[in-house]
Amino acid sequence: MQSMKRIPLAIPHMSGKEMAYIEQAFAENWIAPVGPNVDLFEEKVRRYTGAEFATATSSGTAAIHLALRMLEVGHGDTVFCPSFTFAASANPIHYQGAKAVFIDSELETWNMSPIALERALLDAQQQGQLPKAIIVVHIYGQPAKMTEIMALAKSYGVPVIEDAAESLGSLHHGVQTGTIGDIGIYSFNGNKIITTSGGGMLVSAKEEWTKEAKFLSEQAKEPAPYYQHEKIGYNYRLSNIAAGIGCGQMEVLQERIDQKRLIFERYLEGFATYNETFSNFPRITYQQESEGTFSNRWLSTIQVRGIHPLQLKEALDANGIEGRLLWKPLHLQPVFQKNRFFAEDVRAKISNAQRLFESGFCLPSATQMTLSEQHYVIQTVAKFLIQAGESV
Ligand SMILES: *Cc1c(COP(=O)(O)O)cnc(C)c1O
Repeated sequence: MQSMKRIPLAIPHMSGKEMAYIEQAFAENWIAPVGPNVDLFEEKVRRYTGAEFATATSSGTAAIHLALRMLEVGHGDTVFCPSFTFAASANPIHYQGAKAVFIDSELETWNMSPIALERALLDAQQQGQLPKAIIVVHIYGQPAKMTEIMALAKSYGVPVIEDAAESLGSLHHGVQTGTIGDIGIYSFNGNKIITTSGGGMLVSAKEEWTKEAKFLSEQAKEPAPYYQHEKIGYNYRLSNIAAGIGCGQMEVLQERIDQKRLIFERYLEGFATYNETFSNFPRITYQQESEGTFSNRWLSTIQVRGIHPLQLKEALDANGIEGRLLWKPLHLQPVFQKNRFFAEDVRAKISNAQRLFESGFCLPSATQMTLSEQHYVIQTVAKFLIQAGESV
């Protein structure tokens, strides 16, 4: 039918307000990784999230790396990180010569399991080496169980980095994700809820850290009349042009969140009919917005037991719809095969993270998607599941 044009998973959605900031930058020749747009973008993100201090970076990954530097993560250290996330959550741990220890998910929000985390902390304490940090991710925009996780982190005295790359605007008991832990990071990569084409931000209530992160992100140039370096620095600062895009995007962040949530609601409604009509067929379930949380629903995801998500991907591909499997757990990645993993249920044959990977799917969630395009996606998914259900 209308599938000549592919329906994308998630693509940048400009507001039309970005160019004014960029033109201003050109007019004033601020074509550098410093300038008024960078300051303004930091200010806008701080105001929106309630974060006290912020430093814009060239990517979310760079912000995670700087966060680990602030917590003095180094060679021989360990850092806890969820297994069910994008590799960028864990890679910076290894840039620092430290080792990621992977923690399983719970099945309500799909994020770090407090049960598995507690077991891992207890084990680390018995081994005499607590982790230098815990990285928590709010996957697909859904806040993790921060009350339990923060309580555990506090009782063991381990600082928390929130990887809020996917969850800008999501709330946990009214508090913005990224501002609950000791340091938070956001990403403005092209596929995220808002974008600077590429960029990130580090936020904290501790000014010492955001200042030091900024210093390191600008090559660690000491204040001296010549190039003086006492620390290893990085070229991690966001450009004034990219920050201009970010300023324009911040003006529509709330609108994008509303649109993303509406897309999710429409899937929910559409598949409710399928679930009711074909009650003996593979059932569609969802990542739960757990009590007291508000998800930005960056990506609409579903879980379907009894079919392999690769089959669903193929069926959608053939109909001009881009879908994607959920994150493949990091503890199952060849590059991390020597890293430890703590499952939520030690007796279960497969971990929750693996179960999610083998049953879940990301559906098109671009905010430009039309109503009829979304109906077409819903129909195509339902048709595939009915066929799969009939052949069992
Ligand atoms: C996108 C993403 C990152 C990395 O952000 P970049 O800006 O692409 O470097 C880190 N963690 C998670 C969970 C992400 O989704």
